[in-house]
Amino acid sequence: MRYFKSVRFLNLTVIFLAAMTFLNSAHAELKTASFDLRRALPNNSTPPERKTPLNILPALNKNEGIIRRVKISDDNLKVVALTFDMCELDTVTTGCDIDSMNFLIENKIPATLFIGGKWARTHSRRVKELMLENLFEFANHNWSHGNCALLSEKGLKAQILWTQAQYELLREELEFENLNNNMQKVPVLFRLPYGRSSESALKIIDELGLRVIQWDVAAEAGDNSNLKRAKSNAKKVVSMTKSGSILLFHANLVPKGTVNLLRYVVEELQAHDYKFVTVSELLTLGEPECVKDGYFSYKGDNKALDKKFGIDGTGRRYKFIGE
Ligand SMILES: [Zn+2]
Repeated sequence: MRYFKSVRFLNLTVIFLAAMTFLNSAHAELKTASFDLRRALPNNSTPPERKTPLNILPALNKNEGIIRRVKISDDNLKVVALTFDMCELDTVTTGCDIDSMNFLIENKIPATLFIGGKWARTHSRRVKELMLENLFEFANHNWSHGNCALLSEKGLKAQILWTQAQYELLREELEFENLNNNMQKVPVLFRLPYGRSSESALKIIDELGLRVIQWDVAAEAGDNSNLKRAKSNAKKVVSMTKSGSILLFHANLVPKGTVNLLRYVVEELQAHDYKFVTVSELLTLGEPECVKDGYFSYKGDNKALDKKFGIDGTGRRYKFIGE
């Protein structure tokens, strides 16, 4: 009898463990692979399978400019939004920073991921895994990092709409596999590559129904591979952060050691009682503080980038015209 009882107990334990493994499977740690490294995946500069998204957002007609941070209505509320740019040019592939993503997943920290459409296609497997986490907000960061101050109207519209369409395509693949958990239909926020824009570009983005989100704290300053340096950089980042801040990080393995910096920044902010929200949630908690031109730390600090990445920011020597 005792034997049967212990067998039954063992069986129940096995079933329980199996059920827990199943429940946790969507949130299991993502395993780093060699294809996540920079330039590991082949480059493909063709347009997405579908150039026009099915979900067309209504025009905002707000012309609010560029949001750098949010003035939080409740003085006692300490909230910040962590944001990650995941992007690549037309001419090259970048990586996917799985360590940083795993850190957020393990610690259940929500964040907003600004994906380049081409990057999302290159790293489609990873994007779909991240979509299943229900922890991240997905936002638009142009197709191939086109500079909004330099693109033509047609080129700019294509950079934005191709990205919306690519997001939908990946979401549909999950739907097809019955794996979609209430994912947003389409991104509603946009980030300017290089922080560069013009009055006419902002008007076009507004007409396409996306709000422009930059940052008030550019977190990565140089290489953070060295832990000591990452720790001292984290202190600087936290000293610049206030409630309502939007922090800029990258998760494409272009800046080095982001995960070290991220760990220390999160640790330090949590020690100061900060909570983390997505940018869309942050926007519901107060009034956005807007500017007319994007920049990193001071006005005009990004203008020199106009000449560094091909003719219009995509790395190409000929204009991106959206064909
Ligand atoms: Zn970028």
